[in-house]
Amino acid sequence: MVTSERVEPRVGIIGGGITGIITALFLREKLGVKNIIAIERNPEFGGTWFENSYPGLSCDIPAHLYSFSFAMNPNWSVPYPSRDELLKYIVDVVDKYEVRKMFRLNCAATRGVWDEKKGVWTVYYKDISKIKPISEEEKKASVLQFPDWVRASDPLSPQWAEFEALPEESFECEFLYNTQKPTGAPGLPDIPGAREHAFKGPVWHRIRWPTNGLDLVKGKRVALIGCAAAAVQLVPQLQPLASHVSVFHRTPNHVMHRDNHPYSEEQKEIWRKNPAELRKFRTEFEEKFFKVWINAAFVDGSPEQKFILEDSKANLYENIKDERLREILWPEFMPWGRRVTFHDKFYKSLTEPNVELVQDRIICINENGVLTALQNARDVVHDEKAPKLQRDFDVIIYGTGWAPQSGRKGVVPFTGRDHMDFGLSSMNIKLKPGENGAKPSLDLSEFGFWNYMGEMFEGFPNYFAPITPGAMTFISLIENAEKSVDWTLKILKYAIARNLKSIEVKREAIEWWTNRLDKAVEGAPCASGARNSYFKLYRPDGSFTARIWYPLSDSPRELEQLLLYPIYSHFDQTPKEDGAVKWAVPTPPEISLLDKAYEPLV
Ligand SMILES: Cc1cc2nc3c(=O)[nH]c(=O)nc-3n(C[C@H](O)[C@H](O)[C@H](O)COP(=O)(O)OP(=O)(O)OC[C@H]3O[C@@H](n4cnc5c(N)ncnc54)[C@H](O)[C@@H]3O)c2cc1C
Repeated sequence: MVTSERVEPRVGIIGGGITGIITALFLREKLGVKNIIAIERNPEFGGTWFENSYPGLSCDIPAHLYSFSFAMNPNWSVPYPSRDELLKYIVDVVDKYEVRKMFRLNCAATRGVWDEKKGVWTVYYKDISKIKPISEEEKKASVLQFPDWVRASDPLSPQWAEFEALPEESFECEFLYNTQKPTGAPGLPDIPGAREHAFKGPVWHRIRWPTNGLDLVKGKRVALIGCAAAAVQLVPQLQPLASHVSVFHRTPNHVMHRDNHPYSEEQKEIWRKNPAELRKFRTEFEEKFFKVWINAAFVDGSPEQKFILEDSKANLYENIKDERLREILWPEFMPWGRRVTFHDKFYKSLTEPNVELVQDRIICINENGVLTALQNARDVVHDEKAPKLQRDFDVIIYGTGWAPQSGRKGVVPFTGRDHMDFGLSSMNIKLKPGENGAKPSLDLSEFGFWNYMGEMFEGFPNYFAPITPGAMTFISLIENAEKSVDWTLKILKYAIARNLKSIEVKREAIEWWTNRLDKAVEGAPCASGARNSYFKLYRPDGSFTARIWYPLSDSPRELEQLLLYPIYSHFDQTPKEDGAVKWAVPTPPEISLLDKAYEPLV
């Protein structure tokens, strides 16, 4: 039967962080998509900025750059505002641009499955509001502390078992945006005793800072395990409150001066009254910032690299007089081998009499604290005969990383074409069929980030995951998310206009992309350093794969062109079957809320 009926496709969104907010808004305002189904597991928007609330947390890209392009904010109090100020801004944008009504909050996706025949994604989720919040008794009974908002879907929640028992609900969509981050689930570190909760006192992970966290550290002996970007912000906050802080450290970052002076009322008033001034300030600032980062990261010996080295060294030497400490705290690699951070009080706080920087290797966490070996934590080979030292504490805080360290609990499985697993596909990990009926084994030979422009994946048709590893840049991730989502809108529009059932990136295109990234980063200063970092991931054979875009060419122009003109021959395109209901092309609203672009958020 031939029908003239047309329908608009359904578009699903997982996650109400910055990328999810941009996706929902741009789909509605730029493409005019009406059938949007969006879920967020938390009780509020903001993602990273909702979940992370450790004291001292602020952005490390100046907020005038770390703002939505369509909602600049003349009211930022300082260049690097606190988490509370950032979260308020994000939530204000959600409300002003009417994004709230598009999402179902408290709904956690549990899995997603692609149906090749129907050309449909089914997303399964659980409505967490059906589980009653954690009771005071449960909270008291748990050595693991967490913020009041923590809900059952959180891998660290005591209600995880209840969450697992909750029945699944589902929705279907033809196109899916998955904006959840592999880094979004907190993980306890791979240290014996950590996941077993061997320590008898209060313990928590900095990604889930307890609401009464600062009260819990007052007058107490505190261990902070892990000392990267978060610790730089956290130690100056803990030091004045705790009786003693031991900072367990392995690899240092470059820490530059921050100079977080407040903007004057006069300045803010000028920006409020004159958005064009604010736009000019932002553009000029961005160009300057971009040049510094890009040259420092990719051009060995550049003045910008020298600037970062000199400034971070001056920060270190002004505050730390002890030669041994200076050596421990000075990176062996070039700027951006690890994330460059900013702080004026971090080094100083390490010299206070109640703070100890511990470079010893941790053996285990035990009932009373931390057992260490008198051996440098950076040594790759463990000296089992090294003398041991027990350090006792009242509180342990894990300043370490994310869920992959604690297994896959909390990481949502997505199954694509031919039963492909998203986790394996996006890392290019294959299953080698077992011989003689043996279980299949993992083939890590080409292990690395495996995607197309950090957005599309092999075996995952009609699936976008903007800002995944491989899509990182140096400047504001908000700007990056806007550009990434804009790019996906072009693909989506193309697919709808050509009545495609599915569109999927080709393997050769991923190879093309990955090779270019790898080549561009090879030998660059930001690739220095022996360990995995923000920018690179080592493969088992010792080569590494990159996580960044911009070095693709001498200037970001080429990237801009790629974003502007997607290469459609890079995609496998499957038309809808004859007789199937055709797509109706959505029409953008005549007056878009984004037409208010450049209007400052007052
Ligand atoms: C402490 C910290 C500081 C940072 N500072 C900066 C900075 O200064 N500048 C910068 O450019 N970048 C910074 N970043 C990077 C930052 O993560 C991004 O800038 C940005 O917030 C990412 O937004 P997102 O929406 O892509 O991801 P997220 O913020 O992680 O949002 C993902 C959303 O998906 C939701 N979600 C996850 N799983 C599910 C599920 N199963 N079901 C439903 N919903 C789900 C989450 O709850 C979350 O709301 C920082 C990151 C951290 C952790």
